[in-house]
Amino acid sequence: MQRKTKIVATLGPASSDPEVLNRMLQAGVDVVRLNFSHGKPEDHIQLAETVRALARARGKAVGVLVDLQGPKIRIGKFEHGKVTLNNGDSFILDSDCALGNQERVGLDYKELPRDVSHGTTLLLDDGRIVMWVEEVRGNEIFCTVKQGGVLSNNKGINRQGGGLSASALTEKDKEDIKTAALLKADYLAVSFPRDGADMQLARRLMQAAGGKSMLVAKIERAEAITHLDEILDATDAIMVARGDLGVEVGDAAVPALQKRMIRMAREKNKLAITATQMMESMISSPIPTRAEVSDVANAVIDGTDAVMLSAETAAGLYPVEAVAAMDRVCIEAEKEYETGFSKRRLNMQFDRVDESIAMAAMYTAYHLQVKAIVALTESGSTALWMSRVNPDAPIYALTPDVATRRKLTLFRGVYPVNFKPATQEREQVLHEAEEELRRRSAVMDGDLIVLTIGEPIGKSGGTNTMKIVKVGESRKTNG
Ligand code: PGA
Ligand code: MN
Repeated sequence: MQRKTKIVATLGPASSDPEVLNRMLQAGVDVVRLNFSHGKPEDHIQLAETVRALARARGKAVGVLVDLQGPKIRIGKFEHGKVTLNNGDSFILDSDCALGNQERVGLDYKELPRDVSHGTTLLLDDGRIVMWVEEVRGNEIFCTVKQGGVLSNNKGINRQGGGLSASALTEKDKEDIKTAALLKADYLAVSFPRDGADMQLARRLMQAAGGKSMLVAKIERAEAITHLDEILDATDAIMVARGDLGVEVGDAAVPALQKRMIRMAREKNKLAITATQMMESMISSPIPTRAEVSDVANAVIDGTDAVMLSAETAAGLYPVEAVAAMDRVCIEAEKEYETGFSKRRLNMQFDRVDESIAMAAMYTAYHLQVKAIVALTESGSTALWMSRVNPDAPIYALTPDVATRRKLTLFRGVYPVNFKPATQEREQVLHEAEEELRRRSAVMDGDLIVLTIGEPIGKSGGTNTMKIVKVGESRKTNG
């Protein structure tokens, strides 16, 4: 059985070795994530090349997702690396402090004193340390420690409830977008977008750099939830970034938000990735916990396009096992996932011919119980619309364009296939498509399949025809 849900694996020291990478691809990685919070541009470019070379050798498309660092709001460094804070202690966050001590620490994010006031709750180190703002004087924020603990160099700061003014794209991010364009990233993930405008800016910068990456909005700020509609309109995909989001809105709010985000993304013909701590214990254990297995399975049942591994594959002891665990959990959970044609889509109006054909094919696939759905596509849009309606049957996206095949790696239920027909004549092209799938054992003689194609052949956005065929019949006339 083929897995429909896609697996994104973050690369890092634990997975940069080509031999390990190759085993991860074999275990089922569809998309690799290059985390631009670490490493040099040259190293990322090199790693992307290695991944693509390995993927080519395996005859499988693998997507590359560049994840921008974004305005991670951090404290500075301490004289002795760290301090221990007790509940009730006074502590100062000071933009002008060079080296921290028991009394105060500096800030990488100099504007923080402008964004807080008496009564603000600040969460440090992913919420492990909690501070309450008493007063702001100039560049100093006077706090009382509500939840103490060890605070070490460069830990992150979140404001409870959101509302920090930092823009999503830092100067470093703007440079990194150029690197992403250079290495032809299939996906560009924007960290901490506040609204649709942040995504539009990222899109303009990507276009200016000559890149064609699809955009992923990481939903990890409280205000991104309020602006979810406009963010979805401005992006191609979202990431349910449960780490930072959980700190800002509270951990308990995350599961329901995950369901809402995935549902909204699908309704708007966008993709969704579910991320962070999915197999966390596998950083140091060869098997996941039951809770982690349930978490991955539930994301699949929520309808996510992809599940993501972070430190598990970037820095863990069991990167290959983590991928294999996700693979088997997804396959099993998909059996429980409700497929079918939504009533909502039945009542929808379409304004595009290609979208209408895609939906007609899905309606047919559903009612005729076809074995496979086959989209001959240039841009991949047909496959995207098809994948939003949860068919039982696999969607094979046949395209000669390698960039299209790579971006399809994130679409749930879609399998990219390299296909360069020898002719432009429609019946002959459809026959070749059928034969290609038969060679791959995706279909057998006698199977019903539904195909979509655009004429003139090879033109993007031109899907205007749907055909139902019984595999093997066309060989009598064309073969
Ligand atoms: P990060 O994003 O791993 O880049 O912080 C994911 C998250 O916040 O969950
Ligand atoms: Mn994050």
